[in-house]
Amino acid sequence: MEKIIDEKAQGNTLTLEAREGNSKKLYIESYGCQMNFSDSEIVASILADQGYNTTLRLEDADLVLVNTCSIRDKAEQTVRKRLEKYNAVKRSSNPKMKVGVLGCMAERLKEKFLEEEKIVDLVVGPDAYKDIPNLLKDVEEGREAVNVLLSKDETYADISPVRLGGNGITAFVSITRGCDNMCTFCVVPFTRGRERSRDPQSIIGEVNDLAEKGYKEITLLGQNVDSYLWYGGGLKKDFKNATEMEKATAINFAQLLAMVAQAQPKMRIRFSTSNPQDMTEDVLHAMAKYPNICNYIHLPVQSGSTRILKEMNRQHTREEYMALIDKVREILPDCGISQDMITGFPTETEEDHRQTLSLMEYVKYDFGFMFMYSERPGTLAARKLEDDVPEEVKKRRLTEIVDLQQKHSAFHTQKTVGKTVEVLIEKESRKSDQHWSGRTPQNTVVVFQKEHYKPGDFVMVKITDCTTATLLGEAVGYSENQ
Ligand code: SAM
Repeated sequence: MEKIIDEKAQGNTLTLEAREGNSKKLYIESYGCQMNFSDSEIVASILADQGYNTTLRLEDADLVLVNTCSIRDKAEQTVRKRLEKYNAVKRSSNPKMKVGVLGCMAERLKEKFLEEEKIVDLVVGPDAYKDIPNLLKDVEEGREAVNVLLSKDETYADISPVRLGGNGITAFVSITRGCDNMCTFCVVPFTRGRERSRDPQSIIGEVNDLAEKGYKEITLLGQNVDSYLWYGGGLKKDFKNATEMEKATAINFAQLLAMVAQAQPKMRIRFSTSNPQDMTEDVLHAMAKYPNICNYIHLPVQSGSTRILKEMNRQHTREEYMALIDKVREILPDCGISQDMITGFPTETEEDHRQTLSLMEYVKYDFGFMFMYSERPGTLAARKLEDDVPEEVKKRRLTEIVDLQQKHSAFHTQKTVGKTVEVLIEKESRKSDQHWSGRTPQNTVVVFQKEHYKPGDFVMVKITDCTTATLLGEAVGYSENQ
């Protein structure tokens, strides 16, 4: 196997190890959530079996695939711009190139894509990637190539993903697909279908394989990982119809976490995303019990106002969320916590916004991902509620929560100065070729002098300085985990 990873390759374009004998070229870009990046690795694996190696040069590609996101309107606009770019390249230098749209936008827009975007040759939804080889034949024979069927049981458990453009140290492992939560703002249940879990044995198999290849950290991925439930396959909502035996032997997320942690005690284990309504205390106890499960939880709340949470169909109140935070702090005192927040959800008042700010003051998140509400066609909110918060009000509220988050992030990084933390080295620092960049178990980035250390090493770093979001320090030796 020859490595063709271009060191300059960054961002959304990915490359993989070339397979000998493959002569066709695939250019694949991913946008949106980590699940999309993980899905592109499944698609690359399916296409490697069809004779495709990836390329970083759009001009050289036989096939261009873009894995798309529908979560906000802006994400869709980005993809449309990329389609224009592919079109320009196709016209100017590569007329034989075929273009396919994958993922959530494909699912949302279906055949419309072929009608509206003349450049697009194939449209494939998130559950239909195994059909890509057949769809490519349809394209070659001049037929329309669309498969956006959502599945009850597809989890791609039998496909070993090709790791694309990664650092060889950290990898994603998908454990659930779809989402049943029906948050009123969210398009995911419509684009990714109903929730189903992947066979734990295939998860452990993938984790063991990654460990053998030298990976040091995995992130278990799903829209709502805490809702993981394996009872032999099938939709989560059909669990009630399972046999007594299936119910008795079912495996939940806390049990899966323990299984993965035990299978590879030297590997760091992370997971994302947690939904507060499904996060149970036994998950926190599993985190406390196994030192290789990182003390970090991404716990989106979206709003600090119980009234807005109800409008969003989040299944918890402000007080219940605060009680969950108290539990996290009690069981895992040094746990990093991050948030997702939406400003300007329909009917949000200044008082609701103040409740969000005060919840943030209560939790003091380590970091966060904050967005202005973007109405998504077909969602419950779009059907039932007017998008009535003016753009400038959404923007101002967003600035206020971003500023507050920065204050809290700085509070956490400053608190760490003087302490010694464990860092897994991932890559060279973007700002200096003399420094490594890695993360603490709490998911904070640490930058320090390279010395004799190398990527993949677990190193103890004494923190001497910080910025709002980054810790700066000096290595003082290897960690016990090394
Ligand atoms: N499954 C997770 C949950 O519900 O907590 C995260 C799902 S989503 C892929 C990631 C984030 O995008 C959400 O947590 C939310 O903050 C944001 N988001 C989703 N829909 C949105 C919308 N219509 N407008 C703005 N932000 C949105």
